[in-house]
Amino acid sequence: MNTFDDFKIKKQLLNAIADLGFEKPTPIQLESYSTILGGSDFVGIAQTGTGKTIAYLLPILQDLTYSDQAQPRVLILAPTRELVVQIVEQIEKLSSYLSVRVLGVYGGTNNMNSQKQAIAKGLDIIVGTPTRLYDLALTNVLRLKSIKKLIIDEVDIMLDFGYKTQLKNLFEHLPVKRQNILFSATMTTYVDELIDGFLINPVKKTISISGTPLENIRQESFCVHNFYTKVNLLNHLLKDKNEYNKVLIFVAGKLSADLLYETLNFKSETSVIHANKTDNHRSNSIEKFVNGTSRILIATDVIARGIDIDNISFVISFDTPSYPENYIHRIGRTGRAEQQGSAILFYTEKEKAQKIAIESLMNYTIPFKEFPEEVEINPQLSPEEKPKLLDEDDSAHKKSLIEVGAAFHEKSAKNSKEKTERISYKRKLKEKYKKPLRRGDKIQNLKKKKR
Ligand code: AMP
Repeated sequence: MNTFDDFKIKKQLLNAIADLGFEKPTPIQLESYSTILGGSDFVGIAQTGTGKTIAYLLPILQDLTYSDQAQPRVLILAPTRELVVQIVEQIEKLSSYLSVRVLGVYGGTNNMNSQKQAIAKGLDIIVGTPTRLYDLALTNVLRLKSIKKLIIDEVDIMLDFGYKTQLKNLFEHLPVKRQNILFSATMTTYVDELIDGFLINPVKKTISISGTPLENIRQESFCVHNFYTKVNLLNHLLKDKNEYNKVLIFVAGKLSADLLYETLNFKSETSVIHANKTDNHRSNSIEKFVNGTSRILIATDVIARGIDIDNISFVISFDTPSYPENYIHRIGRTGRAEQQGSAILFYTEKEKAQKIAIESLMNYTIPFKEFPEEVEINPQLSPEEKPKLLDEDDSAHKKSLIEVGAAFHEKSAKNSKEKTERISYKRKLKEKYKKPLRRGDKIQNLKKKKR
């Protein structure tokens, strides 16, 4: 099965696919079509950019028959407003020759009363963020007992946003007998728990990380002194406006995002998005980047994952992510749907270990580029790079440690930094989800079996 014709799908869908210009199914589409259509629970591990949205929409739309039933039969959950909008757009495009009633709902500016009115008119598919959907379900305008298929897109981000409780609350409103379809870019303990708790013998398909998208991406890396020297290098590269015509720059957090924006030479051509910016600001920034008003978009990892932007010429990792998977997500934003893309990684000596972790995950060594001679090295340290002030009482001890040797100090600082980052991230997640022990669940299951 290598073409959409082999899928044996409705003519109306084939025509829409032809209008969209898709020539052949992507690997995740090949892997998921017949299983989802067959009605089994399904877990797809695939990053954004692999065609995962169409992978679940095609079988859903193939199966959806015309109905004038008021309450929706398909529920699609997504973590962000941006993703909700994109999914609705893709449904509208795919169903241009069909009669499908679809609505996207999310919080913020989107008015709940107008959403209620739209629901009352009757729907086939409802797409939304968990909190807004739950609020609507509580009003009784939206009745979810008619749902036959539940799709959760970007489950990993959903759990990262702390939506676990909202998901469980929503599940209470759904009929027990339903088809569950989950899509996630990465497999995490929390995703695993959700699968264990709510899915029935799911068929799991993984599109390997070293699969399609990475092959289309030319990768390079520069070893750079520090934050401000990274800014100088970026300014140097971005001077070439033809080559760098649509550049997505990833930074670790919102502080770096704002600082980079303030110090970049190309402010008027640059937009910024991160979790502290309002929904409207985020939409405007994305819009400007998509329509070409801004050539450069600075973004943090989580925020950027839900957006689908084509033709990104370069993805620049301004910092080296501590979690290697994040690098894969980042570069997956270019080279999409088999187009050629480019990715550049900036790393400092301190970030070298993180770069090695990324390379071992990809099983690929990122080609190294010499730092250009004409770019000035700026010794000034950013607030985050500045050494923290020592406590009075242990300063003597720490001073002696520093004097043991820069290399030792750097290594131990790096190790302890990495350790704290990981511990605090884990702790944060634990606090957020009050993680039930899986082992416990298993014992409970065994007990049940014995009974
Ligand atoms: P997604 O992974 O769902 O975010 O999709 C990434 C991009 O690939 C979207 O812009 C889709 O329109 C596009 N796409 C999806 N399926 C195909 C296909 N079979 N051929 C070409 N492009 C596709």
